[in-house]
Amino acid sequence: MNRTGLVWNERYMWHDTGNAAGVMPAGFGVEPYQHAENPDTKRRLKNLLDASGLAEKLVNVREREATDEDILRVHTAEYLEKLTALNATGGDAGVFTPMGRGSLDIARLSAGGVLAMVDAVIDGEVDNGYALVRPPGHHALANEGMGFCLLANAAIAGYHALDNRGLSKIAFVDWDVHHGNGTQAAFWEEPRALTISVHQDNCFPPDSGPVEEIGEGAGEGYNLNLPMPAGSGVEAYLSLFKQVVVPALERYQPELIIVPCGFDAGAHDPLGRQMMTTAGFANLTRMLMDVAAKYCSGRLVLCHEGGYNASTVPYHGLGVIETLADTPSGMEDPFEPLLAELGGQDLQPHQAAVIESLLGHLNTVSQHWG
Ligand SMILES: [Zn+2]
Repeated sequence: MNRTGLVWNERYMWHDTGNAAGVMPAGFGVEPYQHAENPDTKRRLKNLLDASGLAEKLVNVREREATDEDILRVHTAEYLEKLTALNATGGDAGVFTPMGRGSLDIARLSAGGVLAMVDAVIDGEVDNGYALVRPPGHHALANEGMGFCLLANAAIAGYHALDNRGLSKIAFVDWDVHHGNGTQAAFWEEPRALTISVHQDNCFPPDSGPVEEIGEGAGEGYNLNLPMPAGSGVEAYLSLFKQVVVPALERYQPELIIVPCGFDAGAHDPLGRQMMTTAGFANLTRMLMDVAAKYCSGRLVLCHEGGYNASTVPYHGLGVIETLADTPSGMEDPFEPLLAELGGQDLQPHQAAVIESLLGHLNTVSQHWG
C-alpha cells in the first residue's frame, strides 16, 4: 500500500459558474439548466471515496492559498488585477470562464492544492497524490482565463517545483480530452519542463494542439502534442502510452511527473468524443507510476481538470486513486461492462497509423533534448 495524498476542500464546490445550460449562458433562447463545469462530478467523486472507505486510507494534504508571487510566475499582473476586480462582482475572466463572487479566492485554494501536493511529494510526506481541486487550470493563459480555468494550477505548481524546490526537470502528462494549451504556453520556451498533451484532435480550444507546436527558443522540442482521432478507445490510449508517452518520459527522465487529469476522455462525457473507461484510466495511472518509480522516486501528482458526466467520473476517479494507493477500494465500477463492451474499444488501423506517426514525431523532437 502506498501513502497517497488527497487534497479536498468543500470550498472548491462553492465556485459559482452561473446560470447556464452546458457551456452556454442561459437566456436569449437558452433555458437555464446547469453549467457543464458544476460541482457535481467532483463532489460525487469525493462522496464515492468516502462511501467506498478509500478516503480514510489516504493522507489528507492541506491546500494552501496560492500567493501573488506563485501566480505571477505564470500570469501577468494585469490579469491578476482583472481577477481581483471580478472577485468582488463575478463576471467572465476570458473565453468560457465564468466567475462568481469570491471565485478568485477559491482559485487560489485550487492552485494552492496542487502546490501543497507537489510539496508533500517532494518532502516525502506522501508517495504520490491526487489534488481533487476546482476550478480547473490547464487552459488558463498568462493574460486570460479560458475553458472554465482561472489560474494555471499545474503550471504554477510546476514552476514552484523548479524555482523553489530545487528540481531541475519535470514532466507534465495531460490526458484531459482537451488540449493542455495553458500548460504548453507557460513552458513554451522552457527546457526544464517536458509538456506532453494527449488530447482529441482539434477539440478545444479550436485548432489548438497540433503536433507542429513543439516550443520555441530554449524550449524548442520540449512540447509534445499527441492528438488522437475522435472515437479512440482504451486500446488506442494504452497503445499510445506504451509506444510514445512512456518512451518520451524514459528519454527525458523527469524528477517529478504532474498529470493534469481530466476524465472527459470517458466514453459518456458530453464534452469529448473518446471512449475511455475506469480500467483504462487505471492502466494509464499504473504506467506512469512505473515510470515515476524508475526515474523520480515515485513522485507523481495528479490534479483534477475536466470530466463532465457526474454518473461516471466518480468511478473513473476512484479507479485512478485506488491505483495510486495500490489499495483496492472493493467497489466496482458498475458502468465498466457497459463501456468496455462498446464497439471500437480495440485499436483501429487508422489509430495505429496515427500512433506510428506520433512515435516518429517523438523521435524527431527528442533530438533536441540534451
Ligand atoms: Zn477537458
